[in-house]
Amino acid sequence: MNIIKLKKISGHAKSGKVTRIYIGVLDSIKKGDKLLDIESKKGNVTIISEYDTDIVKLLVEVGEVLNIDDGICEVSSPLKISSGSSAKTPLNTSSKPSTTKSAPFNYFGKLIKPKEVKKITLEVDIAILGGGPGGYVAALHGGLTDKKIVIIEKNNLGGTCLNEGCIPTKTLVRSAEVFNLVKDFKEFGVTLENPKINLKDVISRKDRIVEELVGGIDYLLKNRDVTIVKGKGEVLEKNKIIVKENNVETTIIAQNIILATGGKVSKLNLPGIDLEGVITSTEALNLCELPKKLLIVGGGIIGMEFAFIYASFGVDVTIIEFDKTILNTLDSDVVDVILESAKLKGIRIVTKSAVEEIIRGEDSDLIVRVKSAGENRFYSTEKVLVAVGRSTSLDGIHHEKLGIELNARKTGIEVDEYMRTNIDNIYAIGDLTEKFLLAHVASHQGIIAIDHILGKENPMDYSVVPNVVFTIPEIAVVGLTELELERRNKDALDEEVIEVNISKFPIAANGKAQTLGETLGFVKLIENKQTKQLLGGTVVGIHASDMITEISLCIKKGLSSKDIAHTIHAHPTTAESVHEAALGLNGGSLHFE
Ligand code: FAD
Repeated sequence: MNIIKLKKISGHAKSGKVTRIYIGVLDSIKKGDKLLDIESKKGNVTIISEYDTDIVKLLVEVGEVLNIDDGICEVSSPLKISSGSSAKTPLNTSSKPSTTKSAPFNYFGKLIKPKEVKKITLEVDIAILGGGPGGYVAALHGGLTDKKIVIIEKNNLGGTCLNEGCIPTKTLVRSAEVFNLVKDFKEFGVTLENPKINLKDVISRKDRIVEELVGGIDYLLKNRDVTIVKGKGEVLEKNKIIVKENNVETTIIAQNIILATGGKVSKLNLPGIDLEGVITSTEALNLCELPKKLLIVGGGIIGMEFAFIYASFGVDVTIIEFDKTILNTLDSDVVDVILESAKLKGIRIVTKSAVEEIIRGEDSDLIVRVKSAGENRFYSTEKVLVAVGRSTSLDGIHHEKLGIELNARKTGIEVDEYMRTNIDNIYAIGDLTEKFLLAHVASHQGIIAIDHILGKENPMDYSVVPNVVFTIPEIAVVGLTELELERRNKDALDEEVIEVNISKFPIAANGKAQTLGETLGFVKLIENKQTKQLLGGTVVGIHASDMITEISLCIKKGLSSKDIAHTIHAHPTTAESVHEAALGLNGGSLHFE
């Protein structure tokens, strides 16, 4: 066995407490890489590797007291001390460094020699395929127990959400908000000279934030002894996942498997879709230069978020939407606020129209042919952003061979309320289940799946799922909307008809919103007329994404608007708008007629 041992801490210290572990099983380490942080009476010290090797097993935990000569990790053989200057803190291993002279270089031998495949087998309690917000949250939750957990990820930890979804878009939204604010500097009594947007710096900031958050997940997983296997996993048997990556073949034998492979951008089948300049949301997060004109195909959530980002940066934005309205799942009064804001930003919205073809124009711009009311219309643009949804990724899941049942649409995996598939030890979570394509739903499903494996039965409840659209201003919805109510009551029997009271409070009547200079929007609460139970809430306006949580909790707990009305809300805050809307259902709002 080859073991890297603790040789020296600092000064004459003989032992110390492990405060941080930088390495994980299957990591390849190089001389100079950090292994651990140790806190001793003589001070803090980082233990550095003297070797280029691969880690097979970790022998320490955070919080453990380590003595000189205790093992840190088991590593693959042969273990060679790298030449050059010695590392800061010398380590020793149970195998002696090789002293044999290297063989003469054999050019042809090197060329024809097949690469040796290193085979590793891991036996675990839970294997999680996919490290997005579904998979990594499941791993973090499971990592708090004594279960042996492995997570397999072929790209970056954090999945779509952290790398090309929620977080990168929201850093761009923030840059857009800041730029909008500085453009309004005179309104706030500030003097500025010619503020400009520098897209390269916007993207660098986004990259830094993503990198930091991805690194944070890696750190947390390792600290909870979750083994991270990098590479594409293939589930071929109900207890077995194989990962082949860089001459390492890892066989994972797992008692339970959680599938969390998420989704991918769906490709629109359209002439000209492969032309340069036709981009998806992923590329729209990494543009080097601002286009003069951007045409967005699809006025759904992703399309509208990008429309506000790029319009705020000064780009001429046009949206082509097939339906009769943008954001077609929302109440019409919400859409009206967004249309008003879009108009102020100069965003052109064309509804009831279909993009049929994209061609390259003579002047190198793209020409987009759109069918509108039976007629062809032509739009010239520098870039076309296709934002027409996403599809599930069954990559690596051999569902037919395994007999895993798909849902009615045959595109996602069928699960019950505990996230179980029809195969007893296999669970599925996140976008793959096509319940809600939202990061927080994926994460919650991950917790439910782990709990079920641990023997705790917490069924998944989809009745209270907050949904936020990060347009400017933000929209946040939870529970019942007026649109849904209308649909439900239309086909309901008399005794099933839900009668409601609705209260609306304008954000413009909120003192804090006035101080922020952000007065568009409203808070809307819907309660059951008979039971007075709160059924739904919508906030459109500044801080909507934060205000929705109070309403979510009330609906989840079966509370009434009276409970909100009787709760003291801090002043001055935008959350007072929720209080005022609740007062509207209990005798009348104070600051609005
Ligand atoms: P994913 O995040 O897609 O993660 C799946 C992971 O599995 C990926 O890392 C993938 O590489 C890996 N994987 C797949 N197959 C294999 C395999 N065979 N072996 C190993 N690894 C594999 N949601 C919100 O809630 N709020 C938002 O503001 C928001 N904004 C968004 C903006 C954009 C532009 C996009 C595209 C999405 C946005 N979403 C948002 C949706 C959100 O990103 C997803 O709902 C969420 O990421 C789903 O999580 P998941 O874990 O199911 O899958």
